Amino acid sequence: MTDRYLELANASLTKSIFDALGLPTPVHLQREDASHPHRVSGHVFSGSSQGAMFAKEIANTLATTDIKLANTDDAVKGSLVFDASGIRSAEESSQLHEFFSRHLKSLAESGRVIVIGHKPDALKDTTYATVQRGLVGFIKSVAKEIGRKGATANLICVDRGGNTALEAPLRFLLSAGSAYLNAQVLTVAKPIAEMTADWVRPLAGKTVVVTGAARGIGLAISQVLARDGAKVIGIDVPQAEAALNEAMRSINGLPLALDITSVNAPETIVSFCQQQGPSLHGIVHNAGITRDKTLSRMTSVQWDLLMQVNLGSAQRINEALLATELLDNGGKIVGVASISGIAGNPGQTNYGFSKSAVIGMVDSLAKPCAKRGITINAVAPGFIETQMTAAIPFMTRQMGRRLSSLGQGGLPVDVAEVIGFFVSPQAAGINGNTLRVCGQSLLGA
Ligand code: NAD
Repeated sequence: MTDRYLELANASLTKSIFDALGLPTPVHLQREDASHPHRVSGHVFSGSSQGAMFAKEIANTLATTDIKLANTDDAVKGSLVFDASGIRSAEESSQLHEFFSRHLKSLAESGRVIVIGHKPDALKDTTYATVQRGLVGFIKSVAKEIGRKGATANLICVDRGGNTALEAPLRFLLSAGSAYLNAQVLTVAKPIAEMTADWVRPLAGKTVVVTGAARGIGLAISQVLARDGAKVIGIDVPQAEAALNEAMRSINGLPLALDITSVNAPETIVSFCQQQGPSLHGIVHNAGITRDKTLSRMTSVQWDLLMQVNLGSAQRINEALLATELLDNGGKIVGVASISGIAGNPGQTNYGFSKSAVIGMVDSLAKPCAKRGITINAVAPGFIETQMTAAIPFMTRQMGRRLSSLGQGGLPVDVAEVIGFFVSPQAAGINGNTLRVCGQSLLGA
């Protein structure tokens, strides 16, 4: 799906017309380089508040990357990293102002602002917790100021013991893989399973199931996981079998043509996985459909079918998998929600319900899963360029793309990279998160 506006705004022949008319010109985002996936490079300027607590972890992380430390005020910076964990009072917040008012203007296109703070409810001191909560509003506002450059701002909230698992989220946010993740709060806690240190092929030797893998976002997820070394079991409906077979052939994956709403789907998936080996590294519940109609016109068939695909099947498959030990000690479950489940959308009461419930699935399963060394997280994509969104009427489609700080829709790979991060063993401290992958869509923000 091509975004003609984005292309014309950046084409040498037409760019000057856009500029002369004062039209917004979204920039082409820098995405992962296929020949160097997960490379973390560029110039970073890093700072900290007085009494900040994660200096050692940040320095250690940066030292193991291809990052160069920028040390002059005027150098162009690919990323600005600020450890705000020491800010305890309204007065001390001026340190944020001091740092960013000096350096934000030299942030490069497609640059990153990363702020690190405490998870407020992990702090006993109420004044400290109150002030740390302010970081959320700060990064959301910064993201709105820098989005026109294709740059993003995100916050890492460190929960108890999360400092030992900080490297993975920091690396991910610094990498090109996080291009469309904007204005998000990522909580990192004490790791609940072993973390490996293979940053290039983190999924080597691991098997991951992806539902809805024949096309769109599911296909991109399968490709990213395979790039990261995984053996992908791709599931899609029998009607999409040819596309599924081709998709799996291209990544050396295993196709399983199956309607996930069928009565025996959970058992079929479990026994297919058991045939591959004693453990399964993860499952990504990506299959989803829309059946849009305003509530008074929606038929019960439209409601029920959607609910089974988007929610009921994921619940039944989780139940069947969790009845075995396949995922124990390091397994990953990932849901695919939507910003419609956060903001709501007219004509999508069924979809909004199902996607909000996917977030509920993450919230309610995070603790019981953690006890078994399993993490569960979700993405909530905004406007992503796929066949699903190509079917949206022209004007609504344009609005969906432009109404975000980055001024453009995301690509399937943008969602896939965030899922790849959730699924990586290094993300063992990331549990119970739902991250919007929406370029800071203004819907429900
Ligand atoms: P898509 O329609 O392009 O792909 C969905 C895939 O799921 C298809 O291959 C389809 O055959 C498969 N599928 C549907 N029902 C199935 C079933 N019963 N059993 C097995 N497979 C089934 O959609 P997409 O845009 O790639 O969306 C993927 C996911 O992302 C969905 O959950 C969707 O709700 C979510 N999402 C998409 C967007 C977006 O902008 N495209 C935004 C938010 C959320």
